Order: sequence, then structure tokens, then C-alpha cells
Amino acid sequence: MNDFAGIRALVTGGASGIGRATADLLADRGAQVAVLDLDPSGVDKPLLAFRADVTDDASVRAAVTDAADALGGLDVLVNNAGIGAQGTVEDNDDEEWRRVFDVNVLGLVRTARAALPHLRSSSHAAIVNTCSVAATAGLPQRALYSASKGAVYSLTLAMAADHVREGIRVTCVNPGTVDTPWVGRLLDAAPDPAAERAALQARQPTGRLVTAAEVAGAIAYLASPLSGATTGTALAVDGGMQGLRLRPA
Ligand code: NAD
Repeated sequence: MNDFAGIRALVTGGASGIGRATADLLADRGAQVAVLDLDPSGVDKPLLAFRADVTDDASVRAAVTDAADALGGLDVLVNNAGIGAQGTVEDNDDEEWRRVFDVNVLGLVRTARAALPHLRSSSHAAIVNTCSVAATAGLPQRALYSASKGAVYSLTLAMAADHVREGIRVTCVNPGTVDTPWVGRLLDAAPDPAAERAALQARQPTGRLVTAAEVAGAIAYLASPLSGATTGTALAVDGGMQGLRLRPA
């Protein structure tokens, strides 16, 4: 199935986890895909790789321009680069708050700013942001991360409103806990990784972690003309975490 034939996509944070699964899926379905990442060394053909740090405006502008030139334009931007943080408001200092917002929020803004002029020339432009169930769920020990993803959610709505008349749709996915290298690092750092994994699995009604491929599938749907009437909304990919209210067994 070549649903994405003729579509030119840029995926930030596309070298690992959800971003890599998304880039691979879009390319498998016929899109031309460029990856923007801090470390794109493991990215190979047919994906195009561009090194950039989303906290550095000049490097983002250069990479987006180079990607759009290489692809001959841009139809889809997946704003996925992000980092995590744990703790309550007492646990992270100002510097840590600035560091996480610089990547998760301003990184998205910088990339969108650089990509919008290219997306305006597309007849089916879409921006899909990787948000999180943390944006709306009230998770413990995730104050800073949740606030950053809350901003991503608000930006999704605001950007959708600003660009709808230009024909640019803006949506986001809200994953639960996804089995990616990031979560692997989190588990490795836990005092009891197996117990921590079991706790993360139990948080999701499906009783298992979400796969990166499942998030990629949702992003691909939101990026495709199949979702042409969908903008300014979030798609949960969280094993029922947000929507279901199961009674304890
Ligand atoms: P990951 O660590 O496997 O991949 C993240 C990628 O982003 C890496 O390739 C990394 O190099 C890149 N990156 C990080 N900082 C960057 C920067 N400053 N500039 C450019 N690239 C940068 O993580 P993942 O689990 O695939 O997470 C991807 C996105 O999904 C993040 O936005 C994260 O908040 C979101 N998310 C993850 C989960 C989860 O449980 N894994 C759940 C909800 C949302």
C-alpha cells in the first residue's frame, strides 16, 4: 500500500523510538522522509538524515531548509523530538525547567516556524505533534514533563486555529507509556527495573506498554489525507489509560 506516495515528510527526533518507527512506517508506505535529530548516525536509506539540535534556532532553520530542498518541498511535519523529566515541583530547579521547555516546547515552535513557509505550498499539509497522556492525566512525579506536554497540547490547538484557513491541519498524539529506548533507560535507572515495568504496565488498562509502531500508526493516520477533516485535536494511544475508568478487579 503506497498511501503516502508523493508525500514529503520531516520527522524530528526521528533517529530513535517513536520518531524512528514513524519515519520507517511513512517510508514503507511510499513517502519521502527526512529525519532531523541530534544524533542521526544510525539513520540509513531510504531515510534522509539531518543533524540538528531543536534548542538551536540556526541549526533547526538550516536542517529544515536542507530537508525541504532535498525532498523538493514539505507536506508533513512530525514534531516528535522530546526529553523526559521526573519529580514533583520541588525536585527540578529553574535550570532543569528551562532545559526541558527548551526542547519539548520551544523546539517544536522553532521547527514549526522554519517548516510553515514550506508547508504552505503543499495541497495536503499536516503537522502532527507528539504530545503525551501526561498533558491531561495528572500523573504523579511528572510535574515538569506534564507541564511541557500541556504546552504542546495547547500549541496544537492554537496552531490548528491559526493555520486552518491556510489548509494546514495540526493535531497531536497522546501516547501512554511506550516501549522505546527512552523508557528502557528509565527502567534501567530504577532500583527494581522489573517492578517498575510491572507498575507502568498496570497503569494502562490493556496491561501492557504501547509499542512505538502503534504510535507511528496513529501519527501516520493524522498525517494522511484519510484524516483530512481532523484538526485541533488529540488522538490517545495509551492502552485506554485516559478514556477508561475500570473498577479494580
Ligand atoms: P527516544 O529517546 O527513544 O527518542 C527521542 C529522539 O529525540 C532521539 O533520537 C533524540 O536524539 C532526539 N532528540 C532529543 N533531544 C533532541 C534535540 N534537542 N534536538 C534534536 N533531537 C533531539 O524517545 P521516545 O520515547 O521515542 O520519545 C519521542 C517523543 O515521544 C518525545 O516527545 C516524548 O515526550 C514522547 N512520548 C514518549 C512516551 C514514552 O513512553 N516513550 C510517552 C509519551 C510521549
